[in-house]
Amino acid sequence: MATDVLTGPTMLGSATRTKVYKNFIDGEWVEASTGETFENRNPADTRDVVGIFQKSGKADVEAAIEGAKHAFKKWRLVPAPRRAEIVYRAAEILTGNKEDFSRDMTREMGKILKETRGDTQEAIDTAYYMAGEGRRMFGPTTPSELPNKFAMAIRQPLGVCGMITPWNFPMAIPSWKLLPAIVCGNTCVIKPAQDTPLSTFNLVRTLVDAGLPKGVINIVTGFGSSVGGPLSEHPDIKAVSLTGSSEVGRIVGTTAAKSFKHCSLELGGKNPMIVLDDANLDLAIEGGLWGAFGTTGQRCTATSRIIVQKGVYSEFVERYVERAKGLEVGNGLDETVDMGPAINANQLKTDLNYVEIGKAEGARLKCGGNRLTGGEYANGFFMEPTVFADVDPKMRIAQEEIFGPVVSIIPCESLEDAIEIANGIEYGLSSSLYTKDVNKAFTAMRDLYAGITYINAPTIGAEVHLPFGGVKATGNGHREGGLGAIDFYTEWKSVYVDYSDRLQKAQIDRVD
Ligand code: NAD
Repeated sequence: MATDVLTGPTMLGSATRTKVYKNFIDGEWVEASTGETFENRNPADTRDVVGIFQKSGKADVEAAIEGAKHAFKKWRLVPAPRRAEIVYRAAEILTGNKEDFSRDMTREMGKILKETRGDTQEAIDTAYYMAGEGRRMFGPTTPSELPNKFAMAIRQPLGVCGMITPWNFPMAIPSWKLLPAIVCGNTCVIKPAQDTPLSTFNLVRTLVDAGLPKGVINIVTGFGSSVGGPLSEHPDIKAVSLTGSSEVGRIVGTTAAKSFKHCSLELGGKNPMIVLDDANLDLAIEGGLWGAFGTTGQRCTATSRIIVQKGVYSEFVERYVERAKGLEVGNGLDETVDMGPAINANQLKTDLNYVEIGKAEGARLKCGGNRLTGGEYANGFFMEPTVFADVDPKMRIAQEEIFGPVVSIIPCESLEDAIEIANGIEYGLSSSLYTKDVNKAFTAMRDLYAGITYINAPTIGAEVHLPFGGVKATGNGHREGGLGAIDFYTEWKSVYVDYSDRLQKAQIDRVD
């Protein structure tokens, strides 16, 4: 196998030879202190090695934090509009490399090109949005209760921020974290998911090429416990932002709490789409397929439960299953393919295991359920789109996050019944309702207990300038996207300026 060590800016984008990618620590491309590396393989064809990455350890994390800590001293003083100009330049570079980066992403994580182009576009959109924030970052000025006194609140950066990201949106999610953090004046150390380090590497490389000073951004690749662990417990990390499973969220949140770090957790989902009797069924079927099988069901917002009112239940199930059977599964680089592979062998095993659980629980397997083997599938982690009908809301397949192409259709009596089923799980990320009745739409918008509700659209499709995140086991109350991100990556300082030339005592010096 031919290998090239990646050191120069000319080696961006699609790889034709197997490259060795280094960590970026304090402005230098460096190998891991462990001397170890790991392979990033294409889940559609595991013979294809996408790249070789550093298998880092605690010492690498510490070096990156040290560099970021040093850089923070200067970076916090760079005017926010100047910081934002670098992010704006990054948006332009990303736009120029969109196709190459999207192809890299499909190769490393399997989702189809149409979707990886969307993932890269999300990073571009976030960059343009956050570049604009450099000239806003508004804080309130407000009248003081005392004469000749001025009162305002300003946003301050936090310091060094640690980011830990998942594999399903390997450029978009890092962009949601890195770009607002940088514009707000923080410095960053990011650990991407071990299955998809290349897309995050491409984003970091872009920011470096756009002109970020040394130490402001650092990437340390490797595994959860050996890199994510030290990152979330280090005393010099002031804020940690994790997107991942609720299980890992619990670990990171507990660790961060010990040193009072700010901590943003964006975790799992089990998202319901409700279809009422009066819905446009063509639209609901189309949306339900996209929501359930887009990204091979590996979205935190995937439509994993479809709750259908009894008047249209039979017709919906029949037509939905027919369409699911017709989806083309294959390598996402082929433009005719509708659904790519699972990310890795473990995820595929989990998906197939849930099929057995569903069958044992008594749900009706309407289509799919099998691994695809042989021919073009021989070296990948492919599975048939899988639909269970007549699912009881209490079954495990209706309660637990599967994170694969397995959808549960649940019958319901009414909107009220549907909302109760929708809310009856531990997660609360996304939700949706198909209806033509505006009263029912507004009732659902109020009563679905989730961070996101769509009307007449499936549970996926968030835009970058609105808050993104969920309730219950989906998170800990923070939001990414738009102003939510600015709120997380800054803290308020209230400033009082007394120009009365005398001691004025708040709450005490008053004329009643
Ligand atoms: P994961 O929890 O296994 O891993 C997420 C990240 O955490 C990875 O980088 C991993 O290496 C790291 N990690 C693992 N153990 C760690 C530890 N002990 N300490 C610190 N870091 C550790 O999740 P995944 O499989 O990469 O992604 C799938 C999960 O992410 C799903 O549950 C999905 O719902 C969730 N997700 C949530 C959102 C959201 O915004 N709510 C978005 C995308 C994905």
